[in-house]
Amino acid sequence: MNAGLTAFRPREMVSIVESFDILHLDGTVETLAMKDISTSYRQTDLLDGKRFILRVRFRLEKAGDPIEIRSNTLEHLSERKRKQPLNKPTAGSTFKSPPGSKGAGWYIEQAGLKGFQIGDARVSDVHANWIENMGGATAENIQTLMEHIQMTVKAHCGIQLESEVVFVY
Ligand SMILES: Cc1cc2nc3c(=O)[nH]c(=O)nc-3n(C[C@H](O)[C@H](O)[C@H](O)COP(=O)(O)OP(=O)(O)OC[C@H]3O[C@@H](n4cnc5c(N)ncnc54)[C@H](O)[C@@H]3O)c2cc1C
Repeated sequence: MNAGLTAFRPREMVSIVESFDILHLDGTVETLAMKDISTSYRQTDLLDGKRFILRVRFRLEKAGDPIEIRSNTLEHLSERKRKQPLNKPTAGSTFKSPPGSKGAGWYIEQAGLKGFQIGDARVSDVHANWIENMGGATAENIQTLMEHIQMTVKAHCGIQLESEVVFVY
């Protein structure tokens, strides 16, 4: 999914990948270099359901200083704990950041949806782009809430939010 960070120090997984071993549906295995693959925000063209990534080779930029790495990690974790509802069951960021400087959560908050709830699925008070399961949320509650958020944000801000969460049917 080309996971990455948008806050703190923005970076994505593809920036440190050198090559992939891919299994095709006919059973053949192929090695693809990073330059053979198109990627974008939270997306690579390998996510077509027809190819499976077997192995990924990473090239790290430089040997890091363990003390510095640990201190950066702790700083990122404490920022996340402050800004994200990590003590509740969630699927992380619900919608992709739309183009521009504002994140999806900013638009959802502007649309007045912080705390809005359908069944047991609730727009987090801590970060509006996160949906918390208050205990018994069903997949339908979450999907209906996401559709409501998309409709309301479109009406209030003229922005079409796109799902970052992948539904498995
Ligand atoms: C608390 C929390 C915080 C998060 N914070 C971030 C964040 O800061 N940044 C961010 O980017 N994401 C974040 N996420 C999302 C997380 O990075 C993604 O959910 C994760 O990358 C998905 O990987 P998975 O293996 O769990 O999912 P899966 O559902 O297994 O896979 C995700 C997608 O990849 C495909 N896929 C899986 N395996 C293969 C394979 N071998 N070959 C080809 N396709 C494959 C699947 O079909 C699916 O489309 C967060 C999630 C949570 C719960």
